[in-house]
Amino acid sequence: MKEITYSFKEAEKCCFCGAEKQAFKVLGKRMNVPQGYSPNKKIGISTTIIKCKNCGLIFSNPMPIPEKISDHYGIPAEDYWKPEYFIIPEGYSHNLIQWLEKLYPPKENTKILDIGAGIGKLMVAFQRNNYDVYGLEPSEPFYKKAIEKTGISSEKLILTTIEDYEFEPEQFDVIILAAVLEHLYYPNDVIKKLMVGLKPGGLIFIEVPHSKWLISRILNAFYKIKGLDYVTNLSPMHSPFHLFEFSLQSFEQNAKINNYEILDYTYYVCDTFMPKILNPLLIPFMKYTKTGMELAIWLRKPSG
Ligand SMILES: [Zn+2]
Repeated sequence: MKEITYSFKEAEKCCFCGAEKQAFKVLGKRMNVPQGYSPNKKIGISTTIIKCKNCGLIFSNPMPIPEKISDHYGIPAEDYWKPEYFIIPEGYSHNLIQWLEKLYPPKENTKILDIGAGIGKLMVAFQRNNYDVYGLEPSEPFYKKAIEKTGISSEKLILTTIEDYEFEPEQFDVIILAAVLEHLYYPNDVIKKLMVGLKPGGLIFIEVPHSKWLISRILNAFYKIKGLDYVTNLSPMHSPFHLFEFSLQSFEQNAKINNYEILDYTYYVCDTFMPKILNPLLIPFMKYTKTGMELAIWLRKPSG
């Protein structure tokens, strides 16, 4: 196993809604390796997983913070870059673009910022729809591939983390964080910052792991029946390094701190990770009970 040095930081307050420690409920332990059905037989270390009763945020407490962030997000091997990875089909992210157009009718020079742009696929999709698109990407290999292979202009994509980026006030109409917020150690600080960079009436789109996902609940119940105090939520010390799971309530509480409005949201079922034979039952049930794997939500800054 790769050697990583962590510091473990205990939270005094909920880092998303600011609730005091009394609101913390212990869900169980989470190991630094995939747990499988018998985590008690695995070798590893674990942290405690907490749910904030005020906002439903699920997080690791203490939070393991790697000495070097590159220990988590290393350089992908050259064989990671398969040619088909760079193909951006016509209609890529069509649903998201349509959803945006419904909520924020297109106008001249609508400026979009994609945070964690990767190789720039979403940037290209928005560009094809005549948006003025910018991106931030913290990983140098992804940044380079975006410019070399996807043809993104180096003036439009900046090699930086969101934490290090300085916004000019009221710069963007729309800011996108797809599969990003759950990786950031201080998500409320980042939302605060985005609110500065957003124009009045502008939107933030966020896609995050959902804390009420049915499949985690089933697995957690399975652990409980076996008499184990493990939970499957999050992966603070192994890939994909999810530090948080959010619910609608998380954003309703966070909205009070950052003064935004929740404009619209939905849940994506995604993969059930269960035997395929169960999918015809599980998928409609998850849709109906709003217990899909991901929450997609639009936040709006007040118009002024
Ligand atoms: Zn909270």
